[in-house]
Amino acid sequence: MEAGGLDSSGRQFSSAREMWREEIGAGEGEDNAAADNGKRREWYRKGIAYWQGVDASMDGVLGGYGCVNEADVKGSEAFLKTLFLERFGNAKRHLVALDCGSGIGRVTKNLLLRYFNEVDLVEPVSHFLEAARENLAPGMDVQEETHRAANFYCVPLQEFTPEDGRYDVIWIQWCIGQLPDDDFISFFKRAKVGLKPNGFFVVKENTARGGFVLDKDDQSITRSDSYFKELFNQCGLHIYSTKDQKGLPKELFPVKMYALVTDKAKGGSIGKIRRKNYCPAIIQ
Ligand code: SAH
Repeated sequence: MEAGGLDSSGRQFSSAREMWREEIGAGEGEDNAAADNGKRREWYRKGIAYWQGVDASMDGVLGGYGCVNEADVKGSEAFLKTLFLERFGNAKRHLVALDCGSGIGRVTKNLLLRYFNEVDLVEPVSHFLEAARENLAPGMDVQEETHRAANFYCVPLQEFTPEDGRYDVIWIQWCIGQLPDDDFISFFKRAKVGLKPNGFFVVKENTARGGFVLDKDDQSITRSDSYFKELFNQCGLHIYSTKDQKGLPKELFPVKMYALVTDKAKGGSIGKIRRKNYCPAIIQ
């Protein structure tokens, strides 16, 4: 990724490579052992420490913008519905989703559990995951027998490998910026095996206008659309469709949804399936 970027204090980097070399000691030509140093551990330690200090609430996981939950869920639902029809057709199937960096289970509760029979959650911050367990405990919901939060994994994405072929959808929202590029790529490469046939990833993230913005508070990076595209390509993933989230406050980063598939979606057909085009992070 050649475009330059900024950190939250306004410091400029001429390229992402320069920034990663500084932040985690990773760079082209260096082997993994060199990149797997104390700097990388420090990067992740700071990120987790930040989230450990945040309230297990809607405002907490949405950086003070709990108010965007409704618009966010509506936008996700419209995106997901189209994908369901196109990728799964009308066939009845037992649907399973994985909510990555789930926080307190906001996406699972408000969206995924309404569509999937089982949802697993991965979240490294234990007080968030405990809150998710409580928020998702079986209650009076009529659907509870057939729609349930199944597994709660308290691990970061860079250490997580999903079970083979378990998921119809792997949902990644407002958390992938915690992973440096090399861990981002290896996560998706591992996670592909977790998808069922015709399964797909949804990545819903803040996007920088160009290059990247490094946030030194929560130790995360906001990537531009072209930065994401380059990484997805390196993961061997194809963009099936994308959509911009509408209705968020102006001061927030624009949010984009990407549906990613492992099969070749370009050219308008995947077997019998026709392709149609169709958070807030808190900004700096
Ligand atoms: N996706 C949720 C939570 C967003 S807040 C939602 O949309 O409501 C960002 C989340 O990423 C926090 O729960 C934080 O603990 C989690 N996170 C931080 N570092 C992570 C990592 N390395 N792997 C996975 N999740 C991480």
